Amino acid sequence: MKIGIVGAGIGGLASAVRLASKGHTVTVYEANSYPGGKLSEFDLGDYRFDAGPSLFTMAEYVEDLFKIAGKNIADYFSYKKLDTVCHYFWEDGTRFTAKADPMQFAEAAYQTFGVEKRQVLKAFEDAAHKYTVTAPVFLEQSLHKVGNFLNLKTLRGVLNIPRLDIFKSMNAVNERLKHPKLVQLFNRYATYNGSNPYQASGIMTSIPHLEHGIGTYFPEGGMYSITKAIYNLAKDLGVVFHFDTKVEEILINNRKASGLRINSDIVNFDAVVSNMDVFFAYRKLLPNEKQPTKILSQEKSSSALIFYWGIKQEFSALGLHNILFTENYKTEFDYIFNKKELYHDPTVYINITKKYCEADAPKGGENWFVMINVPHNAGQDWDKIIAEAKPIILNKISRNLGVAIEPLIEVEHLLEPRTIESRTQSHLGSLYGTSSNNRYSAFLRHPNFSSSIKNLYFCGGSVHPGGGIPLCLLSAKIVGDCF
Ligand code: FAD
Repeated sequence: MKIGIVGAGIGGLASAVRLASKGHTVTVYEANSYPGGKLSEFDLGDYRFDAGPSLFTMAEYVEDLFKIAGKNIADYFSYKKLDTVCHYFWEDGTRFTAKADPMQFAEAAYQTFGVEKRQVLKAFEDAAHKYTVTAPVFLEQSLHKVGNFLNLKTLRGVLNIPRLDIFKSMNAVNERLKHPKLVQLFNRYATYNGSNPYQASGIMTSIPHLEHGIGTYFPEGGMYSITKAIYNLAKDLGVVFHFDTKVEEILINNRKASGLRINSDIVNFDAVVSNMDVFFAYRKLLPNEKQPTKILSQEKSSSALIFYWGIKQEFSALGLHNILFTENYKTEFDYIFNKKELYHDPTVYINITKKYCEADAPKGGENWFVMINVPHNAGQDWDKIIAEAKPIILNKISRNLGVAIEPLIEVEHLLEPRTIESRTQSHLGSLYGTSSNNRYSAFLRHPNFSSSIKNLYFCGGSVHPGGGIPLCLLSAKIVGDCF
């Protein structure tokens, strides 16, 4: 088959690999001049920054692409497993270094928070159980095909429903950990997909299993190496890429996707895969088709404000991933999802790839990716919010590290909800498509195929099974399995 793909985000790239591996002729059109979408990089003076994702989990989904293509991953990509997952900071001076190993984590949690080791280990076991039972059902297959519900693994998942805490909030489940700081630490996993732990289903207490059961990784050369590796693999499989090329319309003929309109020209295809945010895919590329209004109007995930700072000093207290917590997590999430305003004491995340990649900053310096979660773009005065947020963030980091940070900034770049939307066509600048605050959210995302237009497929963070690199890679797998 001749297949056209709209967008070279991670979902589009992985779909291209899967379809080319099956012998199809694949062409990818990308509006930007580079592949990767949100998973891109840039240089600022002597500093290199990953623009979007900073946390790499479920490396096996990347490995899979090389296996199905019959290539040796080592020729394209390497990564290492991390012993330390994250460094946590609180305003009262409490520090916690989260080790990946559950036993080491539990021992440290006992020392720092006085919480019994068995309680912490039980939380990890519970996370593993929830993940193992639900991932094959809710993530690794389409939820929109009747046949998928008539098999044994689905039955097992359904029978386990009472143990999955679906009808409690994440926070309600995490409160079993007793100490408020440890509860806060476990609640932060809601931000994995831009959700609110006080609303999102307790089933998401499975997420810590990704970090402490399966593992977190650092790709050699930084996160953008993931994009580069899959892009190079796709090219080696014969996929043709057109950059700086915006698709204007998905053409439909006899209720079947028949091609793409690009620069007013028509290019015929037997099938089309859209990696564009599904909201804009319907609004811009399928304007004459019936719009799935209910799906498109669902609550979006949170967005982010990111300051990329080249810092002319090294900080031994910081690691690759660092979180400086707010004093009041519940209120912070209320500001993000309900008030849709900036909270005056936001949780600050700092990612420093220089810790593992010497070339990412000059000697004696560090490349700081400093992010706070903010509401998606609902028309707020972002210039005012950014002007207010910067000193708040600087003061928080300076307080926690005991060093004035502003004088150390050599170069600066900013990404915010408006530019996230304009650069990657992400509706309202959301990071992860639809939020997972609704406990039925797994069932409410757009399917990976159109039920009314034959040979039209969807991949990426705005459709099933959701946002984040691993789930985008799974969306590509589900699309690939449709052919
Ligand atoms: P996108 O990256 O959304 O790309 C879509 C592509 O389609 C874009 O390149 C766009 O230019 C192109 N396109 C759109 N319309 C057209 C058109 N009409 N014609 C041609 N091309 C078009 N995930 C994690 O797993 N870990 C993290 O730590 C993490 N942190 C994040 C931090 C930030 C700041 C951001 C922004 C995201 C983060 N994410 C993280 C989420 C993750 O980046 C996304 O879920 C994922 O990269 C989305 O991939 P996608 O396949 O949906 O494509």
